[in-house]
Amino acid sequence: MNTDIIHPKFKDGRVFVSPVIGCNGGCKYCYLKLRNLNKPSLNNLGVSSLIEQITSHQDFISGKNGTIISIGAWGDIFQNIKTVNYSVKLIIELMKLGNPIQFMSKYGVDSKNASKIANNIQYHNQMLYSTTITSLKKWDELEPFTFSPKKRLDTCNMFQEYGIESNVLIKPFLPGITDIEFEHIIDLLIERGIKYCVVGKLYLNKEIQYNLIHGGIMCENIIKEHSTLDCNGDIEINSSSITSLYDFIKKHNDKRIKIFLKSSCVNSNINQTNNPSNYFINHSRYCINCGNCSKNRILPPR
Ligand code: SF4
Repeated sequence: MNTDIIHPKFKDGRVFVSPVIGCNGGCKYCYLKLRNLNKPSLNNLGVSSLIEQITSHQDFISGKNGTIISIGAWGDIFQNIKTVNYSVKLIIELMKLGNPIQFMSKYGVDSKNASKIANNIQYHNQMLYSTTITSLKKWDELEPFTFSPKKRLDTCNMFQEYGIESNVLIKPFLPGITDIEFEHIIDLLIERGIKYCVVGKLYLNKEIQYNLIHGGIMCENIIKEHSTLDCNGDIEINSSSITSLYDFIKKHNDKRIKIFLKSSCVNSNINQTNNPSNYFINHSRYCINCGNCSKNRILPPR
């Protein structure tokens, strides 16, 4: 398999772009194993080719109400100076398209790069920065070579200071770990001024599950559903169940923080646009019926 090139992939109103391929983070649950990726390299397609492939695709819709561009699927974008420089260059070029953008990392950037990104924003809330938290207590065991959750939140707060909204992906949601810490994580996010978060299921194949169980991280078989990855719908994989996450959303969704099942819902809420993923209109399980899409689009009755 070619690991120097990954083409942009369209799925459910989003396009997933990977400037970096591979990751040094060593996360025990990581789906990059599905492509045998480890050490990071830059996507050999180059910035102009990546943009050309996005804009010429039949599913691409331009503008604020169009396709959400998601940056960072197959490798963390801010791992080292090389990946930061390349990713920031790509982000700035993609911003010029005027589409909503989500970009994410378990690492961070310095304020010089954050300000470079902020200076190129086309409209308020075009950009959404996300980081992830699965555990506050066991992160160094689970994600040994990444930034600590506290440092990840520092990056979120820095982007907020530059006028870029931040979101925390509480994913993958690991049974026996994330559920036990959930209340504590939410309290910390509220304390740090985070207004949006997303809970997400764990994607895994038998090998990832075997390693999690034999590494003492999980003690049960949690494969509940057959699924595909958002960033590459061609790859078939198993996952934990999303219905188990509804209770956590119901219990903790309050005025101080909004909890969703998909990050495209956060982009749509901050921009007050219909979610191009169409989870609402398609009655998808991913829609928590937050009221945003019924307000922002004329739709047939449910
Ligand atoms: S209405 Fe549903 S799909 Fe639309 S933003 Fe809210 S949760 Fe997401």
